[in-house]
Amino acid sequence: MGSKERFYADIMALQPEVTGSCILVIVKYPNGESARFVVDCGLFQERGYQEYNRSFPFDSDNIDFVLVTHNHVDHVGRLPLLDKNRKNRYGSKIYTSKQTEIFLPLALHDSFKVLKDTAKRNHVQPLYNEENVEATLRKVVGCEYEQPIYVSRNIKATFFKNGHLIGAALILVQISYPGYEDINILFTGDYNNKNIFFDVPNLPEWVLNLPLTVVQESTYGHMDSTEIKPVIQDNISSCIERGKTALCMVFSLGRCQEILHMLKCMQKEEKIGRDIPIYLDGKLALRYTELYCKADLDIREEMLDFLPENLRYVDKESRPSILNDNGCKIIVTTSGMGTYGPAQVYIPSYISREGCLIQFTGYTAEGTLGRELKDTPKGEIVTSGGLVKRKYADVEYTNEMSAHAKADEMLEFLRQFNNLKLVLVNHGRLESKRMLSARIADELNPKNVAILGRDYLYRICPYGLVRSLSTSYS
Ligand SMILES: [Zn+2]
Repeated sequence: MGSKERFYADIMALQPEVTGSCILVIVKYPNGESARFVVDCGLFQERGYQEYNRSFPFDSDNIDFVLVTHNHVDHVGRLPLLDKNRKNRYGSKIYTSKQTEIFLPLALHDSFKVLKDTAKRNHVQPLYNEENVEATLRKVVGCEYEQPIYVSRNIKATFFKNGHLIGAALILVQISYPGYEDINILFTGDYNNKNIFFDVPNLPEWVLNLPLTVVQESTYGHMDSTEIKPVIQDNISSCIERGKTALCMVFSLGRCQEILHMLKCMQKEEKIGRDIPIYLDGKLALRYTELYCKADLDIREEMLDFLPENLRYVDKESRPSILNDNGCKIIVTTSGMGTYGPAQVYIPSYISREGCLIQFTGYTAEGTLGRELKDTPKGEIVTSGGLVKRKYADVEYTNEMSAHAKADEMLEFLRQFNNLKLVLVNHGRLESKRMLSARIADELNPKNVAILGRDYLYRICPYGLVRSLSTSYS
């Protein structure tokens, strides 16, 4: 066996497309020992992949540690299932940033609630129970950015700020063994080069010079940032000018707070009147918004005051009067894809009201109400919240608020590395992955480029790719 085959890491991803992020890494050391870890452990949200949620193609007891890039349910929603599937009492630690540690209890308790309700509707057992959530949270270790931490005897992880979301990290994993060069892998998680709430520092020089494998997300690998057309502000102001209600569908963390800040800017620029009431509905969105105002999240000083004037919080008691009111107002509510949370009452109520706006502000997965509304022409029937309704409202979509870098920005990100051995493109629809990987190969010329997915695992050594092997679980 050559030296390349004595010290190596096998990398594979569980997600075929966008949601359900989970990357498995198996390290083999020259002395025959091994280590296993996963990066993220998310829920599959596309309807077609629901069955994948039930199991893992590995034994939870053999996972030495878990790294979490950020607090989105498609990256953390199955962490408690790791705990449930475990036979031994202890289980592995979960390393993430300090900020993600603050957010994680909210995300996991909410995801449990959603899974419990869905399971009840479908007469099946939920994926995990509340005890699994608590046990998971007890294993979380919050890490400072840019401070390397040993997560196992020979493995060091370093978290770097990532503009995708507060708390999001690029995670550098360095695997060492005496007498060998290190194996260095950088996981981007979901990546963005900027964020309105905090500064994203450049990666330090020592990282840029490492011989490196990058696991690069590619959600928007099919388009450049120049193709994005901003429409949200115009859609909202024309709806308000018509004297109607504008519904903004948001994700509770990140998108919600960005939309509230955008509305504040629109008030300042007189694109909407300060007298127009703005309602915020969705328990989780409210709690995250409170944390933005209070918790120590490293938010830029001038962004701490991001809430618009005339903002009112909605609860179960006040909701009916808002639903019955036909006046001019803006409602910011969850869920972002329209399937869960107060969306279940707002969408059926507003979908048939002509002149009203239902504005989706991010990605809508196949099988969600947001996607169904997109595919239904105006005047046609939709079934929503158990009701049959005709679509008369304006339903609009945009990717201008997206927290993912576009292809040109991802290429820019990769261009800064001086010794790229391998780029593994993952997290995106196949078309996006293909387009981005072709551009990486053409424009950056790293030693190797490949698409990471369920079909192949990639074996890497300190010098880059050794070979690919087909897996048996696709
Ligand atoms: Zn994300």
